[in-house]
Amino acid sequence: CGIIGIVGTAPVQDRLLESLKRLEYRGYDSAGIAGVVGGKIERRRAKGKIRALEDVLAAQPLKAMVGIGHTRWATHGAPTEANAHPHQAGKVTLVHNGIIENFAELRRELEAKGRSFESQTDTEVIAHLLDTNLAAGLEPLAALKATLDRLHGAYAIAVLIEGHEDLILGARRGSPLVVGYGSGEMFLGSDALAVGPFTTRIAYLEEGDYVAIDHNSASIFNELGQAVIREMRVVSPSA
Ligand code: GLU
Repeated sequence: CGIIGIVGTAPVQDRLLESLKRLEYRGYDSAGIAGVVGGKIERRRAKGKIRALEDVLAAQPLKAMVGIGHTRWATHGAPTEANAHPHQAGKVTLVHNGIIENFAELRRELEAKGRSFESQTDTEVIAHLLDTNLAAGLEPLAALKATLDRLHGAYAIAVLIEGHEDLILGARRGSPLVVGYGSGEMFLGSDALAVGPFTTRIAYLEEGDYVAIDHNSASIFNELGQAVIREMRVVSPSA
């Protein structure tokens, strides 16, 4: 339901939480964050209010400078911790807004290849598909493109990939996603409000776009895989 991603130069845990609280107005039933810690990707999730996630983090802080966060409004699978995002498969950890309409067919195909699933969500197929494409030797952006080409439905996603520590991938179709430009830091958010505490400089992705952000830049591509420029605009600080 709500997405935030930060490629940061300072700890991101509290900033991810701040952003998720700003996204509470959209409604949600669970929340979670993930980040890169010592080259590995760790996640913390909780059913219910962001307060419950804060309790989890108080016991087990996430000491990451690059991370993603999500508030979930369940469409497929009950609102449980196991179904809360981020979802993981192999080297991939991701959050998703929207609905993957052909997830049942993709799940059968992936299970036939030996993949096992740990949630009832439609989202988890995206993680496994992308991990399959990475395992086949594709670079992150090519693997993402090959994955998106298989999806029917609506999505905005933010993705961490183990081994690519300063990178967050994103994509959108049917659900919005914005890129936020900081200084030495970059952001992805499901709307301007999500990145509002961190920057007023944003670019709206267009339908079918996908993106890679690092500390200093965003590389944006359209659905044909062509590099494109999406105008950066300055929004009011209250946005
Ligand atoms: N369809 C996904 C799920 O049920 C994402 C829902 C959302 O947009 O929060 O987990």
